[in-house]
Order: sequence, then structure tokens, then C-alpha cells
Amino acid sequence: MLIESKMLQWNKKGIFVLTFQERSSKSKLDLRIERYHLHGVGVRFQRAINTSGEFEPGLPDTLVIHFTAGSNLASSVDVLTSPENKVSAHFAVGRNGDIVQMMPTNLIAWHAGRSNYMGRSGYNRYSIGIELDNAGQLEKRDDGLFKSWFGKSYSANEVVTAVHRNQQTPTHWHKYTDEQLLRTFDLCKVLIEHHAITTIVGHDEIAPKRKVDPGPAFPLDEFRAALLGGATTNL
Ligand SMILES: [Zn+2]
Repeated sequence: MLIESKMLQWNKKGIFVLTFQERSSKSKLDLRIERYHLHGVGVRFQRAINTSGEFEPGLPDTLVIHFTAGSNLASSVDVLTSPENKVSAHFAVGRNGDIVQMMPTNLIAWHAGRSNYMGRSGYNRYSIGIELDNAGQLEKRDDGLFKSWFGKSYSANEVVTAVHRNQQTPTHWHKYTDEQLLRTFDLCKVLIEHHAITTIVGHDEIAPKRKVDPGPAFPLDEFRAALLGGATTNL
């Protein structure tokens, strides 16, 4: 996938963020939604089983961003599509920018769990769940490498050290890739254009006691500002 490097810049945490206004003003999105299904290059469909049926009229109005805390896209999609796991989500975005849709966007998935935000609870019935392939929070080892909960090691250049919005001290987080952030931005944009989306939140904002995803390595504030804050002028 072609990455437009002039559209990337560093934020204070050392995370690549988009020059979102530039990207938003470009009309050429290669993603489109037809009959609740996403189409585009690098998009495939693998059906998740767990759903609570159709959204009520006017919903979904929220996008919930997650990380998979997994080792690769295929294994995470397998977890999210297996009925026995009691979870599901609408989309997963790989580290190369590939997207797997697992649930049509008119059906409720099971990604939010117990959740509260802005006076509403149970966010599955309000939201589309987007999972990013990412190992999650990492532990620093004596040899200078960083270890995931499933035992894989990552080098320092794959890690962001930052304070989580719900925590006090810096910890270590697997970086998202530039391709993945660009593709997730475009996915959010097409969902906002197609559905009446007014809110983008992290799982760690709607379930702060239970969840740390997507964590400080995801430029959530930059996404909100570009996709929702300036919606009247940029879209
Ligand atoms: Zn989550």
C-alpha cells in the first residue's frame, strides 16, 4: 500500500500522526460501504457469529477503537469470529493496512462489554467496534527487549513509552504502524460518512476500570479532532 509520507508527522509521544486536515480534504477514498459491507483493495470478509441482532433506528452513532492484544491479524480474527469466545467486532485492521470485516454494520457485535460513557451504558448497542492488530502493553526485560503477554519479543523501535490516560506512570506499548493508522483513519471516515457517527472513543474510555486498549500509542485525540472536530469544514 502506498504511504504518503508527507502526510505523516510526529506527535509529542513520538507517534506518527496524520496531517489529518490534508488527508480529510482529499476526496479519493478507496473504501466504500454498500448494504452494510465494506469494499476496497485489501478488504476481506470473515463472518463473526456473536450478535444481538440489528441496531435500533439512528444507531450506531459511535466508533469504539480497540487493540487485539494478539500476535497477528489472522489469529485475532479467528478469536473474534469463534462463537465459543463470546466476543465479536465489526472490523480488524492489520499492520499492513489490510482490513477484515467480521460483522455487517447494521448488526450489533460483542466488543464493548460492560461499559459506561456520557450517561449511556452497554456500548455494544450504540457502536461499531474496530480492532487494531497490536500486541498491547509490553514488559521491559533486562536484555532491552520488550515482551508481550503471549511471550513474543519486540525491539525498542517498535515500542512507545507513555502514560496511559487512566494511569499515572509511563509504561510500554506496542506501536501501531503508519499503514495501519492511515487505513484506520480512512475506515473511520467512510463509516462517519455512511452512518450517523458523532463520537469516537477508546475502549479504555468506556470501560476504564477493565480495559487499557487502544492505549497511548493510538492517536485518539488527533483522530477525533480531524474526523469530528472539524467536520463541517473538512468533510
Ligand atoms: Zn477492547
